[in-house]
Amino acid sequence: MKQRFSRKPGGSSRNGRPPIASGARSSPEIQVTNLQHGVFEEARRLNPRFVPDRPLLVATLEVAWAPRQPRRAIASMEEKLLLFAPGLRHHQCRGPDGYLVFSSSEHGDGAVAPEPKRSAPDAAQGNEMYDPGLALAHLLEHVIIDSQCSVTGERTCSGVTGAHRSASCRYDIMVECRELAIGCCCLALAVGWFRSLLRSGSMGGAEKESLSALQWIHHHAPGVVFSVGLARFLGWSEERAERALATLHGTGYLETRTYGVNLSGLKEYRRRGERDFDAGLGQGGHPSNCGAREA
Ligand SMILES: [Zn+2]
Repeated sequence: MKQRFSRKPGGSSRNGRPPIASGARSSPEIQVTNLQHGVFEEARRLNPRFVPDRPLLVATLEVAWAPRQPRRAIASMEEKLLLFAPGLRHHQCRGPDGYLVFSSSEHGDGAVAPEPKRSAPDAAQGNEMYDPGLALAHLLEHVIIDSQCSVTGERTCSGVTGAHRSASCRYDIMVECRELAIGCCCLALAVGWFRSLLRSGSMGGAEKESLSALQWIHHHAPGVVFSVGLARFLGWSEERAERALATLHGTGYLETRTYGVNLSGLKEYRRRGERDFDAGLGQGGHPSNCGAREA
């Protein structure tokens, strides 16, 4: 597939119309339509901070979201996400003007991020130049990065988000991802959280539980997982542990096997292998299909 980049890393043309006319679709939706995992040399042109030879998870999304005031809606989501994951305030966002997120927070390196700026044409045309789907996908990228790092303990992880030229509400999120199973799980969890935020405006304790459970399983349960073990370790009720495991099962990270002769009815959860995830990846072309607008 030919490269069709036209922008510098982190740049954004923002010269397209919003993907969905205001009011055209009232029910927000995010769908993951394709996943790829591997080393994509060309991706460093989009973000020079990508470590050479480090694999990327590339998720293609269809986003149907047309808030009346998209910038305000994104700012509101940022606030809620910061309450859920305070570590987001230490991210170093290098998105283009108008798409910077968590930018009023203090950076991890001690530098203070600049206030979001809007170029003159952008400011003049207001939300007409702003792609809310791209902004939402970009927020999602940050949350996936934050979740992966909190689970694996990795200190650095880079990503970039771009809009497809060929489809107005299609976006690619690329994040560094050494462990495909963790990356896929964090993506699925983040999409679920965003759906909750968009539909009900809130995220609850159940979301945090699933991330804590993933962290524990990643570090302490290489094979079989039972709710009793998770509950004991984290000081949770079995019901709470079971709920978190069921959520992870829903993402595809765990598979289940119910004992046929065990009167307790305990579910046996197992981590799916990296090969299982590899086998489930789609083709979907090359991630360089995106790049018309990047954040
Ligand atoms: Zn960013």
